[in-house]
Amino acid sequence: VAGLISPWNLPLYLLTWKIAPALACGNTVVAKPSEMTSVTAWMMCKLLEKAGVPPGVVNVVFGTGAKAGEALVCHPHVPLISFTGSTLTAQRITEKSAPHCKRLSLELGGKNPAIIFDDADLTQCIPTTLRSSFSNQGEICLCTSRIFVQRSIYSEFLKRFVAEAKKWKAGNPLDPTVDVGALISKEHLEKVRNYVKKARAEGARVLCGEGVDSLILPTGNQKGYFMLPTVIVEIRDESCCMQEEIFGPVTCVVPFDTEEEVIERANNVKYGLAATVWSSNVGRVHRVAQRLQSGLVWTNCWLVRDLNLPFGGMKASGIGREGAKDSYEFFTEVKTITIKH
Ligand code: NAD
Repeated sequence: VAGLISPWNLPLYLLTWKIAPALACGNTVVAKPSEMTSVTAWMMCKLLEKAGVPPGVVNVVFGTGAKAGEALVCHPHVPLISFTGSTLTAQRITEKSAPHCKRLSLELGGKNPAIIFDDADLTQCIPTTLRSSFSNQGEICLCTSRIFVQRSIYSEFLKRFVAEAKKWKAGNPLDPTVDVGALISKEHLEKVRNYVKKARAEGARVLCGEGVDSLILPTGNQKGYFMLPTVIVEIRDESCCMQEEIFGPVTCVVPFDTEEEVIERANNVKYGLAATVWSSNVGRVHRVAQRLQSGLVWTNCWLVRDLNLPFGGMKASGIGREGAKDSYEFFTEVKTITIKH
């Protein structure tokens, strides 16, 4: 029996990404989706039933983390837990599962850097970095939230990046002209806004978005938890906005001078999930990618994914990898049988 616990930010994708390999390896599953996004999981149950999955093979338990999640983690007959969510919850799961010596796969948060060298193709880099910063309202674990730009192109990059960010529209995502939808909850919006407030209090400048541009919302969405793409500059690497996962449409842009310096600064956070490197120098791209403490590095692109490739983070971003071969190893046991005859 595999215990699967998933978060709210990409609810169907992250749940099925665990269920499929668990079943393919011959397990049954008990899945606990996020209490914030139960509906897609419930719809998936209906589809599984329709597809003829036998009763008892995929079991979905709806409930809060503290009650349903922890019951799964502490259950003596669930020997492995695949968890995607925050680092804080992962620490609790690790503690609670320790007495049972469970196998854990932990896919956690990130504070992902984009490193942009002065030989980068900005016509590709700017639109991609906008997407990597603000897609899904910045509520993707792989979103960029620290952008390091080489000093000689810093002003030009910033000017073009902010001008494009200002064009992003918030509203109902069913409207094809809308770029960002609502954040997950009132509390989360408050948390994200507080980060921007803290940055201002520390003397950083906010160039667009929160507190700068007015949020024009369609009728019917006026009370929603929306926020515009927000760009922060003149911020220190030690600031909480440069160290902690904000998980909203907020990104910080800072200048750097040398390759050596930027590698050190990019690695100077507790997380290590994803990074992007922009340069037309192939040798440099290889050198930098290898030295970044990051489970995933994209060079001159972002979110180009093949589900067979290993996926996961270093440091506080997780333990273990998921993806074809790695999921196979996680969801199966190796047994040595010696037969004398
Ligand atoms: P969360 O840790 O609050 O919750 C994740 C899941 O864990 C939910 O289903 C929740 O109910 C459950 N849970 C909470 N407390 C629990 C406990 N004590 N025992 C067992 N289960 C418990 O995370 P969230 O706010 O839902 O999701 C956002 C976080 O997920 C961000 O940090 C984001 O970076 C991370 N994330 C990581 C990846 C990745 O692949 N690395 C992907 C998506 C999201």
